[in-house]
Amino acid sequence: MTDTLAPVKPARLIINGEAVDSASGRTFTTVNPATEEPICAVAEAGVEDVDRAVQAARAAFDGGPWPKMKPAERQRILWKLGDLILAHGDELGRLETLDNGKPVFEARQIDVPMVAGCFHYFSGWATKLTGETVPVSPGTLTYTLREPLGVVGAIIPWNFPMIMVGWKCAPALAAGNTVVLKPAMETPLTAVRIGELALEAGLPPGVLNIVPGRGSVAGEALVGHPLVDKISFTGSTEVGQRIMREAAGTVKKLTLELGGKSPNIVFADADQEAAVRGASTGIFYGKGEVCAAGSRLLVEQSIHAEFVAKLAERAKKLVPADPLDPKTRLGSLVSEKQMKTVLGYVEAGVKEGARIVAGGQRQPVNGKGWFVQATVLDRVDNRMKVAQEEIFGPVLAVIPFDDVDDAVRKANDIPYGLAAGVWTGDVKKAHAVARRLRAGTVWVNMYNFYDPGMPFGGYKASGFGRDLGADSLRDYTQVKSVWVNLE
Ligand code: NAD
Ligand code: MG
Repeated sequence: MTDTLAPVKPARLIINGEAVDSASGRTFTTVNPATEEPICAVAEAGVEDVDRAVQAARAAFDGGPWPKMKPAERQRILWKLGDLILAHGDELGRLETLDNGKPVFEARQIDVPMVAGCFHYFSGWATKLTGETVPVSPGTLTYTLREPLGVVGAIIPWNFPMIMVGWKCAPALAAGNTVVLKPAMETPLTAVRIGELALEAGLPPGVLNIVPGRGSVAGEALVGHPLVDKISFTGSTEVGQRIMREAAGTVKKLTLELGGKSPNIVFADADQEAAVRGASTGIFYGKGEVCAAGSRLLVEQSIHAEFVAKLAERAKKLVPADPLDPKTRLGSLVSEKQMKTVLGYVEAGVKEGARIVAGGQRQPVNGKGWFVQATVLDRVDNRMKVAQEEIFGPVLAVIPFDDVDDAVRKANDIPYGLAAGVWTGDVKKAHAVARRLRAGTVWVNMYNFYDPGMPFGGYKASGFGRDLGADSLRDYTQVKSVWVNLE
């Protein structure tokens, strides 16, 4: 049993199988957003450290054991890492909550099993990545080999710091790549800890390197490094666009999982109690700092007033509280900056004519922390800023619609296309609407569900490439055609 009050030890970089300080000796302090107190010092990777990590990953790929190892052996090691993550679930859950401010219920009961699940699921793929024989002519043997790309640079955000380690590293490693992962400055701790556990699981030196540091320094160094073959990025659309431009110089392959402003559509024929619950968890789960959050609630006109009243009542009961309390369901936003951004959006919404029917304020817990109330904005027009821009906080914009065509038009009238929800009792309508929505994921009569086996990623400005599922393996491998003259 982990002591939940134990101090957190300083975090170091993981490079070539060892925990090391940065070359410059620089550190930064990571902060608990719920208490505004420092947690511990973290070694800060600079350009030189990223270079060392990339060299180690390159050596582990080019000459090293990882891609040459029997796939069954890679499978065994990755499975073991999944087991170790589960065995350290209390420790990882607590670390994630301290660093990010999310409820420990989410970190421990949902995030930990998801990360472990990724390593377990993708370990099985190590032995199942096959090429094909192609019947070109009787005089040739023509076949394809599915091969890893090489060194993958993974750059991840602060909202799901440990889940993202699983989403990026598990498929990349299962396919035989080596990885350099840069966590977000706000939340480096669980990534470093998983890097240590990977060594314990038997991952050879250099196969998984962890380099916490600034996006503008360590992130850019990774994107520009000539020895990195691919960047797998999750974060904002703005940084994604920048990475795309930078990656052009070295023709890197890319997976970009960017922002979202996902519509959650409630038809009048839906099970209303279930839809109220789904609308609420769709936006308030993870404090709304969820790329796929159902942040635009489209409600059919005929039930609009009644539905919003029920939702507001529910939102008011969801009170921010100490994230370390297992009963808490609404934690602290990740940073003061994020809280200010979110409250700024609420203000902008009101100026444009939206009406606050729940929340709308900062609400410190024990006098501290960057907590924001569960907020519902009614009378939003799809053209308003609060309807078009990603807020990334517990703020829901409610937009009424007239009929199916109006719902679909409003849902798709946005640059993003990450996810969408549909609530209806009509099975034909459900499937028809699911097809018409321009989004990478559609949930019908459910919201915010994920599984290592189901691909996740964006349409439109929400990015390209997929995390999770067999589809993600395509993005971490390349195909070689081999022609053999038999005549
Ligand atoms: P961000 O884009 O600011 O940062 C993401 C990561 O990129 C961080 O590690 C950061 O240090 C790094 N970075 C910043 N500038 C960089 C640069 N110039 N070069 C290389 N790396 C750089 O995003 P954030 O604020 O940490 O996270 C929130 C955003 O992430 C939201 O927009 C959200 O929608 C998005 N997100 C998307 C998904 C998805 O799967 N589509 C999942 C989670 C979060
Ligand atoms: Mg932190």
